[in-house]
Amino acid sequence: MKIQPGITRRRFLGAAAASAAMATLPLPRRAEAGLRRADVIVVGAGLAGLTAARAIEQAGRSVAVVEARDRVGGRTLNHPLSGGAYTELGGMFTGPTQDRIQALAAAVGVGTFPTYNTGNNVFVGGDGRREEYPNNTPLGTAPVDPVVAPDIVLAVTQLDQMSQSVPVDSPWTAASAEQWDGQTLDTWLRANTSGSAEFMQVTSAATEAIFGCEPRELSLLYTLFYIAVSGNEQNAGTFERNFNTAGGAQETRFVGGAQTIALQVASQLRRGVLLGKPVSKIVQTPTGVVVYSDRFKAKAQRVIVAIPPTLAGCIAYDPPLPPLRDQLTQHMPQGTLMKFEAIYPTPFWRAKGLSGQVVSERGPIKVTFDTSPADGSLGIMMGFIGGHEARAWEDRSPQDLQTAALQNLATYFGNEALTPSDIVTINWSAETWNRGCPVAVLGPGTLLDFGAALRVPVGRIHWAGTETSTYWNGYMDGAVRSGERAAAEVLAALV
Ligand SMILES: Cc1cc2nc3c(=O)[nH]c(=O)nc-3n(C[C@H](O)[C@H](O)[C@H](O)COP(=O)(O)OP(=O)(O)OC[C@H]3O[C@@H](n4cnc5c(N)ncnc54)[C@H](O)[C@@H]3O)c2cc1C
Repeated sequence: MKIQPGITRRRFLGAAAASAAMATLPLPRRAEAGLRRADVIVVGAGLAGLTAARAIEQAGRSVAVVEARDRVGGRTLNHPLSGGAYTELGGMFTGPTQDRIQALAAAVGVGTFPTYNTGNNVFVGGDGRREEYPNNTPLGTAPVDPVVAPDIVLAVTQLDQMSQSVPVDSPWTAASAEQWDGQTLDTWLRANTSGSAEFMQVTSAATEAIFGCEPRELSLLYTLFYIAVSGNEQNAGTFERNFNTAGGAQETRFVGGAQTIALQVASQLRRGVLLGKPVSKIVQTPTGVVVYSDRFKAKAQRVIVAIPPTLAGCIAYDPPLPPLRDQLTQHMPQGTLMKFEAIYPTPFWRAKGLSGQVVSERGPIKVTFDTSPADGSLGIMMGFIGGHEARAWEDRSPQDLQTAALQNLATYFGNEALTPSDIVTINWSAETWNRGCPVAVLGPGTLLDFGAALRVPVGRIHWAGTETSTYWNGYMDGAVRSGERAAAEVLAALV
């Protein structure tokens, strides 16, 4: 069982949680024998890779899925609690226009239920002031505090409007791409709002939870692209649909936890998933492609690499990737994100008329959600620790982090928060097969100078993964969409 350095087992879970989750959920079948050849090899058994494999099998072609870990699901991860309950350490919410993940879930028998969203939200300002506000104001989940609300409205209105001129399949071709990719979100906010310290701290709380980074790390063009893709073919993206709970990306959850979708898809694949096989080399020949892991190789006509670009850059390629593609992988680091989950006998904040949702300028936890089971039989309070906060805390003692995080929760919900029955924490940056989460962080110049290489196949190598999606990029829905797109590419190319 792997334990992160310097962190106790009870307090910090990494790969260990995966094994525990697998022990209680249906295991995908192993199909090592006879895996030497397939029409297509898929690298990575996250939602993107599994979706691609499912589509290829449904088209009647053979596929082998090769996964580095001893589990499937990638950035979705259930962690079992006592009494048959579970908590979710990775992706968990879904919402309107996320049609493809919801269709996949329905197809494999995974239902949904509403995120708890009744009562007041809480805002805590930089000076420590604590305010409760209704969760159904025109600002949605964002605070209505008079110090920050005018800037929130000013910024969101402009960003939504600017995002409408960003093509979701080629943001680098936007008329203002050069201007927008030449600055950060931070720079733009300071120039186009009051730029007050309070407001900048609120934007930091938002980007830490959404991207796992600070506004100073984000290209303005990439931010606008992220807003533009928070929709679907019929509905233009908006910041509100991304950030809100009601009517937004946090509206709904999956019964049994989001990882159940991946487990179900994997269990239905005819040849299963080959686990524990990190792909280290991909060789293209005139007639096919050979994929290597330790003591293992498989041959196919085509390969789909369904992993984040920064991890795709760790694979050796023969012949080498074209320089633009290789340099793209060097420009797409993953965000920095931890989840801190405090477990209580009951969701005690509900009786106080609180929704469990917080936006705070004081970390380490600045954004929270009530992620209790649907029947409320247990109280689970989930807090995001992201960006600068995560980096500042990840090398400190887990005890210090726990004390500070519980103190945050006590400020938000009352002193009952200080005595949880259990705590589960994960730092996704410490996961070898993620190197961070929830999505890649693109700084200035990346989309403009390297973006064109994002999806273009390199010979027999095709690219999938949520970072390649044209809608809900960074989300489970984007992962599914990317898997569907890559499968269609490959099926059209197979002989
Ligand atoms: C804390 C957190 C919260 C999130 N919240 C939400 C949310 O509420 N809603 C939402 O929609 N999304 C959310 N996301 C994002 C969502 O989980 C991801 O967008 C999605 O799961 C990505 O799927 P993927 O298949 O593209 O990539 P991944 O899930 O990363 O899958 C890639 C797979 O490839 C494997 N792999 C990597 N390298 C190799 C190699 N060399 N050889 C073989 N295998 C390899 C990995 O182990 C992994 O299983 C969240 C993510 C995190 C971490």
